[in-house]
Parts: sequence; C-alpha cells; structure tokens
Amino acid sequence: MPPAHPFDTSFLRDAEEDDKLKEECGVFGVIGVGDAANFVALGLHALQHRGQEAGGIVSHHPEHGFQSARRFGYVRDNFTSQKVMETLPGPLAIGHVRYSTTGSKGQTAIRDVQPFFGEFAMGGAAIAHNGNITNANALRRELIERGSIFQSSSDSECIIHLMARSLQRTIPERMEDALRRVEGAFSVVAMTRTKLIGVRDPLGVRPLVLGKVGEGWALSSETCALDIIGGEFIREIEPGEMVVITANGVESHFPFRPQKPRFCIFEHVYFSRPDSILGGRSVYETREAIGRELAKESPVEADLVCPVPDSGTPAAIGYSLASGIPYAMGIIRNQYMGRTFIEPTEQIRNMGVRLKLNVNRALIKGKRVILVDDSVVRGTTSRKIKEMILDAGAKEVHFRIASPPTAWPCFYGVDTPQREKLLAATMSEEEMRDHLQVDSLKFISLDGLYRAVGEADGRNSVQPQYCDACFSGEYPVEPADQIESGFEMKAAE
Ligand code: SF4
Repeated sequence: MPPAHPFDTSFLRDAEEDDKLKEECGVFGVIGVGDAANFVALGLHALQHRGQEAGGIVSHHPEHGFQSARRFGYVRDNFTSQKVMETLPGPLAIGHVRYSTTGSKGQTAIRDVQPFFGEFAMGGAAIAHNGNITNANALRRELIERGSIFQSSSDSECIIHLMARSLQRTIPERMEDALRRVEGAFSVVAMTRTKLIGVRDPLGVRPLVLGKVGEGWALSSETCALDIIGGEFIREIEPGEMVVITANGVESHFPFRPQKPRFCIFEHVYFSRPDSILGGRSVYETREAIGRELAKESPVEADLVCPVPDSGTPAAIGYSLASGIPYAMGIIRNQYMGRTFIEPTEQIRNMGVRLKLNVNRALIKGKRVILVDDSVVRGTTSRKIKEMILDAGAKEVHFRIASPPTAWPCFYGVDTPQREKLLAATMSEEEMRDHLQVDSLKFISLDGLYRAVGEADGRNSVQPQYCDACFSGEYPVEPADQIESGFEMKAAE
C-alpha cells in the first residue's frame, strides 16, 4: 500500500469519482532529444487525466544504460525534482501513468507500476501499455507452467514474458510475436537501447498518436501531450500498426491480421481531453455536437442549461446553442480541492460532493434548469447534484446525458463497476428518472452519438464503426477471462 499522505483526499475518489468510468492509463515516449525524460514527464503531466494512481519513466543513455523511476501519485509531485530527473538521462525515454486496470486495484504495489523492463540476450527493452488484455489469465497460467516468474499482478507483464519466449532475432520481432498471442485492447509504447516502438491492437480500441519534436519523435496517448512539449501532431498510429522509430526515421509494419477498426467511442464522450484531436476531429467540437444532437432528440422547456463541470461543459454549450436556452455556470467546481483539507474528518466526509461542486445560487433560484452530464454510472453523484440544485431553489431539474445508458462493463482498459452496480443495467430510463427524482431524464441515443462523432447515417448495426460495448453489450473481442469468471454476455437477439 502507498503510504497515507497528510493531504490525502482519496476518500473523495471513493465517494464521488467512483461514479465515473475511469480511463486507466496514458503512455508517452520520446526519441532523439536531449534529456528525453524531461519531455516524457511533461507529456505524462498532460495525460494525468488518464491515470492518477502512479507513474513511471524509463530512460536510456549510451553510457549509463537503462534507468527507471516509478512512483505513486501525481507526475507533478514526483517528476519535477531535479534530483529525480538527473537519474533519468539520455535521448530516449518512455513513461506511463496508471489508474489500475488489473492487478491490485486501489492498492497498487510499486511492482505493478509501469513501464516494465526485461533484459533479453539482444539487449534490454521497456514497455508501457494502455488497455487491457482479455486473455491474460490463460496466458499467465501457461507462462507460469512453462517457468516464467512474474514480478507483478499486471496483465501487461505477460507481454514481456511472451517476448522472452519468442525465438525471433530482434526485439521488435519478438514484440510482434508476443502481441499476436494477446487478445483485447493495447496501445503500447516501448523502447530498446536505440529504438522507440509504438503498437496499436488490430481494432485500434485505445488511441496512440505520432508527433515530431525538434529533430526527434514522440508517441503519445493523446495529441494534447504533444502540445505541452511544443511538438507537432503528425498522425495517428493506425489500428494494427507497429512503428519502429530510430535516428533514421519511422518504419511502419502491419503484423496482425487486418480487422475493421473499433475505436472506443467513449474516448470522444469523456476520456480524452477536449483539447485533443481524435480521428481528425477536435474532441471539444465532437462534444459540442453531442450536445446539439441531445437538444434535437430531447428538447424541454427550461430557463437555463448548466453543465456538470468539467466534462459536461462542451455538450452543455452545444445543447444551449441548438435549443436557444441560455447557458450558465450553475455549478462551480473547486479546482483546488485536492490541497484544501488536512484531516478528512467524518463531518467532512459527509459533505461528499459539496466539497468539489457548489451551486451558483444567485443563478439557479426560481429557474427551470437543464443539467448536462457526460454519463450516469451508479447515479449516486447525479442524485446529490439534483439535491443541491433543488436546495438552491430551482423550480425544475431536467437531466440530459451526453452518452447512452451505461449498462455493461468495459473490459478494454477502463475501470467500470460490476454490471449489477451500473444503474442502467437494472433500471429502465423511466425507473432511473424516478430513482434520481428529477423532472425528466434523457440520454443521447446510440445513433445520435454516432452522428455526433461524424457518422452521418448513425450506427451500422451489422458492423458497428466503433466499440460501444458498454452501451450495447456487443463486445468486439470476447472477454475470455471475464467469461471464465462467470460474466454473462448479452444473449444473441
Ligand atoms: S466498452 Fe465502452 S469504454 Fe470500453 S472500450 Fe468500448 S466504448 Fe470504450
């Protein structure tokens, strides 16, 4: 267990943020710049929304070899000290921020913090993985039976052991070999002594982009992390593509059987930062388009449109623009919450969501309010927010949700509660409205969401253009480990 911090506000994560789906990892790598680890630290800082539990950096220097630092907590608290950064010299480095996908969730051990490192006959390699391997249990059992000794409880470590067993000559070839055995979602950033390597799974479920930084190159989960280092966004790594980057430039391979891409549609709704570009589209503009679709699909007479900050903001702006109902910041988020309290006493714990969000009473009193949020997971936060709005004197509260009902867990690198804890898994829309005690509750339709992300004809029900399993229950890769543990897939219609 990481040591308790005197300013620990993790109880808030349990109480409130547990009501959000959480992206579980961000990856970043740089080659061909002086002190690459400094660039990686900045990149990871920009990707902090993808994982706050822990982070790590591995660097390589021609004289000092591989060096690594792995820490619990935020990047800004660990990788800003000169003392730490001086231990990570060299022109090549990769890094990882983690929530926790598999392994000791909520009680990560330092051995579970990536990047992972392996020493092979042809030299060392470090890897950082975003996603989730859906056949990790079977792979781990097989590898252990054949003599592998695992250091961590993470699914990602399977990749290192599969590489160790490969008979290929080079590390990139061994990585191809290993990843062909892996099922599920993976965006991997890896490094050898001289190469930066990026790979995306054949469906391209999780994002990975290529950037240029000075004379060097960068790989990142999102484009916003290229901006922070003054890099230029070149292109997305294609689904099923492996890029091997050296001083001579970028080589591209397609080592997997080609498949129709199924990018995670929830990245557009919530996970990615609004200042990132996904699929050639601004995430902010997509979220605004979602709000416009919602307004078209589910209009209601009201006085104000208010976002549930911060993730509901672009959709609320879109709803307001399309409906003509004024937009207002009816709820204010305290950005400095994490540094406010020394001791979370019982009384403070009971304040729950009020510690982070406060209603702007002067705006709300006597008004019919439309609240726009990105998703409803357990519904606990939605209910508290509704109470706060009514306490402030609102006449009516209407919820509009920028994603369809989340009725199924994600097994591709996103932390989701068990299916029975998802409100939409056990209740109809009307039942959820009654449960939340709001005047109306409407979710965007799956077709409406597809239109907002640029699919003019909506969802292709025969061959969906995205992964939308958490809404539809149609999993593009069978979650073998979960089925083995008793998970029941949706019955075929
Ligand atoms: S199940 Fe949902 S959150 Fe997970 S990858 Fe698919 S769309 Fe994204």
